Amino acid sequence: MTDCIFCRIVAGEIPADVVGRTDEAIAFRDLDPKAPTHLLVVPIRHVDAPRDATGEEGARLLGHLVQYATRLATDLGLDQRGYRLVTNTGPDAGQSVPHLHLHLLGGRPMKWPPG
Ligand code: AMP
Repeated sequence: MTDCIFCRIVAGEIPADVVGRTDEAIAFRDLDPKAPTHLLVVPIRHVDAPRDATGEEGARLLGHLVQYATRLATDLGLDQRGYRLVTNTGPDAGQSVPHLHLHLLGGRPMKWPPG
């Protein structure tokens, strides 16, 4: 999608602080970090939100994103203290970019429930 900011990052049209990439996903630092480590793990193909990752292919993609995010967390040394994986869907959750993504947040204690 040409008007999607994350598709444009995937295509290299907008700069981003990319920390890793697989055949299906890209990980880059959030522009407005909410924790010392705040990455976004984004599928390369455009999917609006988790509910749109349907069927076997969607299940495989969601599994890949979670596995990739946990691998990044390990590589970044977050395993021992812990970290949070979040995906926001729709206005009540505060989703601001309609391209599926996981937030990987770590490096500080976090409250529960989230605000
Ligand atoms: P959400 O509000 O859950 O949809 O998350 C979207 C996230 O994308 C926010 O945390 C933004 O700070 C982040 N964001 C928006 N534009 C960019 C960008 N160009 N590069 C990196 N992060 C971005």
